[in-house]
Order: sequence, then structure tokens, then C-alpha cells
Amino acid sequence: MVSKDEFVPLLDSKPQYATLKPSIQDAVNRVLQSGQFVMGPEVRAFEREVARYLNTRYAIGVNSGTDALFISLHALGVGPGDEVITTPFTFFATAEAISHVGATPVFVDIDPRTFNLDTELIEEKITPRTKTILPVHLFGHGVDMAPILALAEKYDIFILEDVAQAFGGKYQGRKLGTIGDIGAFSFFPSKNLGACGDGGLIATNDSKIAELARMLRVHGAKEKYRNEVVGYNSRLDELQAAILRVKLPHLDQWNAQRRRIAERYNELLEDVPDIATPIEAAYAEHVYHQYTVRIKNQRRDEVKEKLIKAHISATVYYPIPVHALPVYSDLQFDLPQAWKAASEVLSLPFWPQISRTVQEHVADSLREALA
Ligand SMILES: *Cc1c(COP(=O)(O)O)cnc(C)c1O
Repeated sequence: MVSKDEFVPLLDSKPQYATLKPSIQDAVNRVLQSGQFVMGPEVRAFEREVARYLNTRYAIGVNSGTDALFISLHALGVGPGDEVITTPFTFFATAEAISHVGATPVFVDIDPRTFNLDTELIEEKITPRTKTILPVHLFGHGVDMAPILALAEKYDIFILEDVAQAFGGKYQGRKLGTIGDIGAFSFFPSKNLGACGDGGLIATNDSKIAELARMLRVHGAKEKYRNEVVGYNSRLDELQAAILRVKLPHLDQWNAQRRRIAERYNELLEDVPDIATPIEAAYAEHVYHQYTVRIKNQRRDEVKEKLIKAHISATVYYPIPVHALPVYSDLQFDLPQAWKAASEVLSLPFWPQISRTVQEHVADSLREALA
């Protein structure tokens, strides 16, 4: 039993730290004693280990997922006058990266079943200025990549995958982030592979893109003090890399736990009215960064309030589609499915070590809220 006063967070990272504490502390001590804090052996080793994990040729650590996106766009040569097709139902950083390189985001509505880009609506938005398609594997569920690959081929445009929420997830057996030209990953603490601070990574099989991205993260220089282009300061630091090296070998196991926990929620919520539980398309291996349900019949806000009153952290990702945010108010897009999702979604407490008791408590509270 969970007592009525017990607070249930959306995510609890403490059980993970409890199991890894000695190895994380060893890793941190190793870096502190080495005195080398940027661009050292830990980052190089982590990049090798991620490249092996993803089965990709190059992996380049950067400062955040946001930087991974925007350095990738820069490395692809996307700039002013160019258009990048993406989803309105994502974290703002996806579109922000597009604006940062001076390009224009072109939003395409979502498939209501997966919350991801509706691939049937992309082609009509392609223009001679379209440089890149930027699909986001939202909540850990892969985008249907085959139609996007076909369009990229047909119109000679790049694909940049936003894998911030889906590290370890798969599309038709292939790791997400290795299907397009570039994959951009985030190690923000709440992500499936989370650092103890900010971090990100760019994965690619293209040696030219990799070389440019490597330069861009350190002021556009291959060799110190021989700057060739104008770059940035966006490095993954040694402490984060050392911590991530401890965690990476556990990622698949955590993702498997996420899948089991999602199944348990699906079963617990099966007979609750006005709820649609998440689906997994045949092509996808979902890694449930979030466990997100739809609450139908305009009852979402009421249900959320009731859960909060019951000390259960239920959260809305995302309440306003990106195309409708004030910063993009001059862009006119009519995207009904994104709006519908924004008004219906609710993410439930979810982490790999959540107990069955807590899950039952959440499910019971939801049932009560919807009764
Ligand atoms: C978290 C996230 C980002 C940004 O990653 P940061 O590491 O926080 O900069 C980008 N896109 C999506 C979809 C995200 O969830």
C-alpha cells in the first residue's frame, strides 16, 4: 500500500544512483585526481564506447542535446534562407536549433497514434529551399523512417534525427540516431541515459560531417590556435563522460525495464474509461522516455489536478505545440493533431525502478479521478 500522503514524483533518479554509487564515485575521483577536465581520455573513451554501442563510425561529445542539434545543422550547411521540416509536438530546443542557424522551421502535423511526424504530410511541404528533415523520436518511440529516407533520396535532402528522448530505441531493428545522416543525443539528467548535468552527442557515419562537427565544438579548430572556421565552445566535460561511461553498459537493461513497466501500466489501465494508453508500432522498439496517455473528452486538466491533489506528479509534455509558441507567432500553421495531442496528453510517474505498488497506486488514483 502507498499512503495517501506519500508524494509520487514523475521521475526518481535516486534508486539508480544507489546501485551505481561506488562506480560513479570512483569515476569522479579518477577525473578529479587526473586534473584533466576537458577533452581528455574519458571523453575519447566514451565516444568510442557510444560509437560501438550504436554501431556508427563517429560519435562526438558536446555540451548538450540542444548544441548537438544546432552544431549538426551547422555541419550540414543549413543556414539563412533554408527550410527544415520538423514536428510541432516536441521540446522547444528542436525548433530553436533550426532558428539558431538562421533557417526557418516548417512544421508538419503529427500521427495521432505515435505523436511523431505524420510522414504522409511531409512531401507537400518540401520546397527547393528544404535542406533537412528533422524527425524527433518522441517519448522514446521511433519515427517511421522508411518514407522519410525515400523523400530524402528523391529530393536530395539531409535527415537529422533528434534522439534526445530515445537513446537505445530501435526502428526495424536499427538503433535510432543511425538511420539518417546524423543523430543528435542528449544526456540531460532525466533522459534515458542521463548525466549529472548537461551533455550531448552527435553520431554519424559521414567523415566530413564528423570532422566539421569536431571542429565546431572547439572554436572551429582541428589544431589548437589554427582556427579554420568560426565555431563554438561546446564540449562534453571529463566528469560527465566518466559518469556516462559507468551508466552506458546498463542502458539496455534500464530500457528493458522501462518496457516491462509500460506493459504493466497498460494492463493496469486497460479498463479505465476515457484513457488511451501508448501504442508501439510494428516497426518500433519503444524505450518509453515518458509513459504518456491520452485523457479523452476534455477531461485532461481536471484529471491532472486531481492527481496533483493526490500527491502524484502527472505532467503535460507539451501543453502548447511549438508552432504556436509566442516566438513563432508570425508563422501560420494549421496543425490540428498537434493541438489535440497537446490538450489530451498526460505523462505518468515513470522510471526503471518504479515499484508495482506505486504503479497500482497511480492507476487506482487515475481510475478514481475518471470515475
Ligand atoms: C531534451 C531534449 C532536447 C534538448 O536536450 P538538452 O540536452 O536539454 O539541451 C532536444 N530535443 C528533445 C526532443 C528533447 O527532449
